[in-house]
Amino acid sequence: MATDPVIVLGGGLMGLAIAHQLARRGEAVLVLSRRRSEAAGFVAAGMLAPHAEGLSGPLLELGQRSLERIPAWVAEIEADAGLACGLRPCGIVVPFRTTAERDAYPTARFGQVLDRAGLEREILGIGPDWQAGLLFEQDGQIDNRRQLMRALERACVGLGVTFQEGAEVLALEQEPTGALTGVRLRGAEGQESSLPATRAVLACGAWSAQLLPELPIAPVKGQMLSLQGPRDALQRVIFGPGTYLVSREDGLLVVGATSEPEAGFSEGLTPAGQCQLQSGIASLLPAASSWPPMERWWGFRPHTPDEGPLLGPSAIPGLWLAAGHHRNGVLLAAITAELLAAALSPEGPDPQQSALLGQFRWDRFG
Ligand SMILES: Cc1cc2nc3c(=O)[nH]c(=O)nc-3n(C[C@H](O)[C@H](O)[C@H](O)COP(=O)(O)OP(=O)(O)OC[C@H]3O[C@@H](n4cnc5c(N)ncnc54)[C@H](O)[C@@H]3O)c2cc1C
Repeated sequence: MATDPVIVLGGGLMGLAIAHQLARRGEAVLVLSRRRSEAAGFVAAGMLAPHAEGLSGPLLELGQRSLERIPAWVAEIEADAGLACGLRPCGIVVPFRTTAERDAYPTARFGQVLDRAGLEREILGIGPDWQAGLLFEQDGQIDNRRQLMRALERACVGLGVTFQEGAEVLALEQEPTGALTGVRLRGAEGQESSLPATRAVLACGAWSAQLLPELPIAPVKGQMLSLQGPRDALQRVIFGPGTYLVSREDGLLVVGATSEPEAGFSEGLTPAGQCQLQSGIASLLPAASSWPPMERWWGFRPHTPDEGPLLGPSAIPGLWLAAGHHRNGVLLAAITAELLAAALSPEGPDPQQSALLGQFRWDRFG
């Protein structure tokens, strides 16, 4: 095994998940993280929803592979961290205004068909706008914001991963032939330095194109809020158009999310965004409109032209990519970590993993 460490650029969800899998395989890993709190891994609702999201084609296949892997992946993290991740295989209901809309949904064949009575049975108190639904029992959620991210950090530290928090990667350094030789870095106290690196993974989320401009990744801002509901008020996740409601074990209801590509990296909440979420709540679950608000926050999804991630080798020898997971990064973290750890291993990926990596090459857009 090579002895030089793998440098992971970005300590968000992908960076942590990959660092964890590499460390489990005995690799030395260093994570460079500009700002822990800006990671979309701390923003997301944590839905594990390849079917409720209506994915199709290779992205659906990748999502289904990841969903299958999640229970074992979570068990590894929980064992290494000694902390729970908050996985809830609770099923997700997608409500529709008409049966025609329901039957035309791209993943309808994977769901249980619900009429109005079925919807009322699954979601006590669902609003009157909704006449039909699909129940995806195989989809679920994980408490990324309060549990998964922290458990991953602790699991990594326990396995010897080192972290530099507040360290911004300014540039990639290459030899004349193009191969990666290191990264230019500004530390938390402002000092600039070069760090040698022959193997690195770029996992900078929505900011990835700032380091490698040829990557077709752009931010899509999302605003969220949470309400404190009664415990057990909502068993299933409700995935409505424009708004979804995700109830945690303790009754905290996570409500998402706006989708604002025009906002770029502009920080902060907006009245229009928060109003959109409030009207979604009133339509989906009217009783929740009177539950007390707890938190409001926002973050940036890493969007790509086909909404699928960029995985595997880059054009720079020694630099691998794990970026561009857009709105499904929590779902895709398990398979991403598996694929990247395999890609960096001395044996390389197996044929099935190679086929998946091939479908998500960074230069597939032509
Ligand atoms: C509102 C919202 C709701 C979402 N809901 C869901 C959901 O329900 N289910 C789901 O599956 N997915 C969801 N997602 C998507 C998911 O959160 C992302 O796809 C995922 O977090 C991406 O992980 P990442 O590690 O690529 O990026 P991030 O988690 O954003 O991490 C990137 C990290 O890189 C660091 N970084 C950036 N530039 C540099 C640099 N130059 N040097 C050093 N560090 C750097 C940043 O500081 C950041 O911490 C949601 C996202 C948003 C915004």
